[in-house]
Amino acid sequence: MAGDTPRRAVVVGGGISGLAAAWELSGGAHKSPAPPQIVLMESSDRLGGALRTAMFGGRLVDVGPDGFLGRRPEAFELCQEVGLGDTLVPIAGRGAAVVVRGRVRMLPDGLVLGVPTRFWPAARSGLLGLRGQLGLARDVLVPRPDRRGPIGDRSIGPLVARKLGRRVVDTLVDPLMGGIHAGSTDDMSAAATFPVLLAAAQRRGSLMRALRAEVPVPAADAPPLFWTLSGGMESLTERLGDVLNERGVEIRRSAPVERLERTGGRWGVHANGTVTEADGVVLALPATPTSLLLHGHDDEVVGLLNGIEYASVTLVTFRVDAESVPAPLKGTGFLVPRRSHPSRGSDAWAVTACTYLDQKWPHLARDGEVLLRASLGRSDDGRAAGWSDADVCDRAWSELSTFMGLTGTPLESMVVRFPDSLPQYRVHHLLRTTGIESAVARLGGLSVAGAAYCGVGIPACIASGRAAARSLW
Ligand SMILES: Cc1cc2nc3c(=O)[nH]c(=O)nc-3n(C[C@H](O)[C@H](O)[C@H](O)COP(=O)(O)OP(=O)(O)OC[C@H]3O[C@@H](n4cnc5c(N)ncnc54)[C@H](O)[C@@H]3O)c2cc1C
Repeated sequence: MAGDTPRRAVVVGGGISGLAAAWELSGGAHKSPAPPQIVLMESSDRLGGALRTAMFGGRLVDVGPDGFLGRRPEAFELCQEVGLGDTLVPIAGRGAAVVVRGRVRMLPDGLVLGVPTRFWPAARSGLLGLRGQLGLARDVLVPRPDRRGPIGDRSIGPLVARKLGRRVVDTLVDPLMGGIHAGSTDDMSAAATFPVLLAAAQRRGSLMRALRAEVPVPAADAPPLFWTLSGGMESLTERLGDVLNERGVEIRRSAPVERLERTGGRWGVHANGTVTEADGVVLALPATPTSLLLHGHDDEVVGLLNGIEYASVTLVTFRVDAESVPAPLKGTGFLVPRRSHPSRGSDAWAVTACTYLDQKWPHLARDGEVLLRASLGRSDDGRAAGWSDADVCDRAWSELSTFMGLTGTPLESMVVRFPDSLPQYRVHHLLRTTGIESAVARLGGLSVAGAAYCGVGIPACIASGRAAARSLW
């Protein structure tokens, strides 16, 4: 610090990670008496990044992420810290389903991220067929020993397939885990996305029994697993923008950062033809723009960042006349396994999942209507990104009609696209992350945050933003 001038921090990126970083820099729950000067720069004209809420059918509906996991404390706590505790809404629906042989069937009890932990519920579910049942039976009677790798990471699909059979992966695990990340479990890091599975696989004996021991059954009075906000998830990022403003944080929208310059131990942040000098910079961006900004500063970190691939996702929300939905909907929605299309060819299902939005979040329910949301796009399926909005709607409606027996046409629809939005955590992703973080730390006065590193969920992004702020200087 020069004389009495406070240090200046620039946060680049106004998604949830960057906003959480700015919140932490300003003191977090306990406003700092002597915070640094903070400037947040966001390239678009709005805060929130992937978090998007829209007025749809006369109510505020999340047209992007629609809730967060309550088992991790970060998102819940942040909502309370910024005064949104009264608007937290717990999930209402219970249970999810999967498309098997063209029909929507409820998932059995006892799954942990799609992996069965009990033989009977999964074997009796009718989802797995004889081959699937035999795979489960083998795990109970003659469990296969683990093939441990020397470095301690494995891809989820082959790991589970070896223990429980390929059918379990294709029908249960890949749709769930692949759905969360819009990727394939065949090359998804267990250490980065499902560490308890890795721990369970390294125990002796049955994987199902080991996973049961790793993940105890939640108590009957355990708090709900998922939460949302009655004003939509974007109400969190909007509120963060307001409270940061009240704390004197300067928020610059439509300010795409084009270059970082290192001079005399400080950073020069270039945006819109001006240079903002900073003692510390938090880059809360996806991997690709982060790597562009670090070009010329460290070749190793640029290479590591460029190795993180992204999947694009398209969401289409439908407001539907209840008369168009023939059977009562059960649970919160269903998943569509990649390999479940009868032809298995290039015409595979485009829809990867459907959420019954107003069953999941009852404050969205209106008499005589149903809100459905279809997800399209995965790391190995970029078709929807090339379709027009009208084609996305037609295709999604047609596939939902096949699965659910919908009739007629939707009352209203909205397509929202999330290009290159979900980072793919390949095997050894955590080594890559460690390499990036240490290379960035060596540059001095710099830290990175966001979904690219240690978790894509909103709580993980908040944790990452806050940690990046704490490690800045
Ligand atoms: C379709 C979808 C559904 C999801 N659903 C859920 C869910 O239900 N629950 C959950 O927990 N998680 C969900 N996620 C994951 C989670 O929402 C995201 O991982 C998280 O919001 C990412 O936040 P972020 O701040 O790291 O990145 P982003 O939201 O991508 O924010 C980065 C920001 O940086 C800005 N930016 C980029 N380049 C520059 C630059 N050069 N200068 C300045 N600004 C720049 C961008 O405009 C953007 O605003 C979902 C993700 C997607 C895509």
